[in-house]
Amino acid sequence: MLSQIKDIAAPLAPRLIEIRRHLHSNPELSGQEYKTAAYVAGVLSSCGLHVQELVGKTGAIATLPGTGEDSRLLAIRTDMDGLPIQERTGLDYASQLPGIMHACGHDVHTTIGLGTAMILAQLAVQQGGLPGSIRFLFQPAEETAQGASWMIRDGAMAGVSAILGVHTFPTIPGGSIGIRYGALTAAADDLELIITGESGHGARPHEAIDAIWIAAQVITTLQQAISRTHNPLRPVVLTVGQIQGGRAPNVIADQVRMLGTVRSLHPETSAALPAWIEKIVASVCQMYGAKYQLNYRRGVPSVQNDLALTQLTESAAAEAWGNDRVQILPEPSLGAEDFSLYLDHAPGTMFRLGVAFEDQPNYPLHHPQFQVNEVAILTGVVTMAYAAYKYWFHR
Ligand SMILES: [Zn+2]
Ligand SMILES: [Zn+2]
Repeated sequence: MLSQIKDIAAPLAPRLIEIRRHLHSNPELSGQEYKTAAYVAGVLSSCGLHVQELVGKTGAIATLPGTGEDSRLLAIRTDMDGLPIQERTGLDYASQLPGIMHACGHDVHTTIGLGTAMILAQLAVQQGGLPGSIRFLFQPAEETAQGASWMIRDGAMAGVSAILGVHTFPTIPGGSIGIRYGALTAAADDLELIITGESGHGARPHEAIDAIWIAAQVITTLQQAISRTHNPLRPVVLTVGQIQGGRAPNVIADQVRMLGTVRSLHPETSAALPAWIEKIVASVCQMYGAKYQLNYRRGVPSVQNDLALTQLTESAAAEAWGNDRVQILPEPSLGAEDFSLYLDHAPGTMFRLGVAFEDQPNYPLHHPQFQVNEVAILTGVVTMAYAAYKYWFHR
């Protein structure tokens, strides 16, 4: 079956590159993917798939029905949004929109979703149908971690038995696949902390409660406590990225507000973090007489790749491209991915698609010069289509 899939995919490659370049030139920000979704719906309809538009606000869903021999439903999720970044690649198909860029490879992901749909639709015709049904999820607003929850709210995961996803990765060579067992990405939560002291003359600190000094103590204590009270094999990263307070050099500040991000990999660690942070904040503030308000907002959980489905994608990639083009990734990323929200509804796995060049510099995701080695598109669609095919024979 792999050779049939490759035979269908090879002549589609130029068309897929054309699709990807069209998407790359016309990026849309999170939650505004109207033209992208309409374009996606057009391509899917032309393959004979039934498309539901405006699912998850600006997302789309298409279904390839199976023969019913297998009652399971497999979902394939790709994301569609660009980023508020001014592109500086100099490519002739660079973004035509000032200040918006596909700098996270979601143009490639969308293309892979479309290419996989094209391949599997043709394969279904050749085979007289695939055993079970496949639902293609084209998700908006991944960068703002909103889109997956919008899709789920609109029923995208109803009846789904398993879900597959893909993300480009600029440190893996183009044409190779990265497989990660267990945690792929981190849980990412937001933190807002307001510390309130009492203003006073800068020369008489004993008559005031210095919110800036107490904020410094809180930050230092939190960082030291991570190092000394957490299991170092279960990482936590706490970054205070923004801090504001005070009005004049000789006036003691009565209030400081700080904003931060908190990352962790293990679900038990993530669950314990809000209470642990509050305990430290409360004890430092109490020691020096300050009040505090802590707003801890849960973001997305960690992506935990399912063992059996990860074995499935690994074997699909290894059969398709050989073991030397499959890397087992030893480490997760502390980035976040809202693919994790789907995993509350069905097991799933996300693989990394290598997009690095051998002969030119490679820039990280979200960089204004981020570029994709387009050989990866064929690698991605064949791997995804073959993994989806193998799913029906894998229990
Ligand atoms: Zn991104
Ligand atoms: Zn991304």
